[in-house]
Amino acid sequence: VSDLTFDPSDQLALLTGKCTARTIQLLGAGMASNLPGRFARKIAPKILTKLSNQTKLGVVTVTGTNGKSTTAGLLSSILKVAGFKLVHNRQGANLVTGITSCLIDAASWGGHIEVDYALFEVDEAALPVLAQEIVLNTVVVTNLFRDQLDRFGELDTTARLIAKGIVENRSMAILNADDPNVSQLISEGPRLSFGIQLDEGQAETEKQLAELSYCANCGSEIVYKSVAYSQLGDWQCSKCSHARPPLDFYASEIDLLPSSSSFRFNAGLNSIDIELRLPGLFNIYNATAAGAAASSLGVALETIKEGIKEYSTLFGRSESFDLFGKHVLIQLIKNPAGATQTIAAVSSNQNVNVLVAINDNLADGRDISWLWDAEFEPLSQLKGFFVVSGQRAQDMALRLKYAGVAPEKVETIPSLERALLESLKRTTSAETLWILPTYTCLLQLQKILQKLGVKLSGT
Ligand SMILES: [Zn+2]
Repeated sequence: VSDLTFDPSDQLALLTGKCTARTIQLLGAGMASNLPGRFARKIAPKILTKLSNQTKLGVVTVTGTNGKSTTAGLLSSILKVAGFKLVHNRQGANLVTGITSCLIDAASWGGHIEVDYALFEVDEAALPVLAQEIVLNTVVVTNLFRDQLDRFGELDTTARLIAKGIVENRSMAILNADDPNVSQLISEGPRLSFGIQLDEGQAETEKQLAELSYCANCGSEIVYKSVAYSQLGDWQCSKCSHARPPLDFYASEIDLLPSSSSFRFNAGLNSIDIELRLPGLFNIYNATAAGAAASSLGVALETIKEGIKEYSTLFGRSESFDLFGKHVLIQLIKNPAGATQTIAAVSSNQNVNVLVAINDNLADGRDISWLWDAEFEPLSQLKGFFVVSGQRAQDMALRLKYAGVAPEKVETIPSLERALLESLKRTTSAETLWILPTYTCLLQLQKILQKLGVKLSGT
């Protein structure tokens, strides 16, 4: 191990990073989260290692295609309720430079970090890079979705590199056993599995609903006893005996309501009933992943329940209703952190279309640069269409373009009423329309919906 004491170049790097962050803050500029880290790393390439090494109990990372922000957010809430002091890159700065920025921010001017855990949500492609610089004590992998454009087998490369990072770090791997792409990542070393146990009738039984996955043992196609959604479910190899491993942690007794749910969290012989004020099966996976990670760190079930409740109350409630036979969900977006969570939730599901409505009135905040700090990138994986509306519809269209959403999938309709009607018309009864409005767009939407006979509660 090389010398990990703070030397003058580290000190200079830290000062540069902190001053950059301060300047960006003063200027009120967006897209700020990576710059301090980038500058500091130029001056002192080992600064990330030196800072992260100071955490008392270690580094916990959450990676995967979808749900990492929500899972990390839930885990952060649980660990805080448990009384731990954390540093957490909650603004979605999930690349190596962003994580460096986050640690620089948490450090004193003298370069000291006084925390129990560092908790990082990490881009799945960045995890292998991070694993070279930081000892990753725990790695949670939520899921690995193959996008329909994965012609070059990028997912397989990513999966291989994540596995390498886990093995080389001797990390405790907390893996989604229901996802064959994740469950089969490593075959040795410390690992714990989580998943969900569906009741009869909750599982999708039709075989074609499952996305194709392959056995790591013999390369044959994976088949399912039951499918939760996409490639997630109780799987087994069609040829050999390879199958979903026994679940160390799992959700059962799942009751899905339109915008919230309840489930039983099982950890070994113990279990606890949990209320989750987040919609969808994908959020049950996120909560189970967070619970599994917390439990592996020795947190009591009562505390896990409390932490999950606290987080989802903060996240806010989404509104859900049916209109013209179409399922609609509305979630207010107003800041980068909240919008990032919402987008993660929206993107964890297929069969969704999205209407984003952005105003810049005083009540919305006049400065819409936060749109660039929120992570809209996961939306690029959705197959559905996008409608952008509101006074800043054009800005939103541009943001989606930079997030990788194909421009031909995005329609700009500044009038919110017309945007809503057009979105509903194009949504089928098998799809969900997600509406993401800023505050004054939501007020406008309330009036429009009232005319159509829908009354929103509590907004
Ligand atoms: Zn096999």
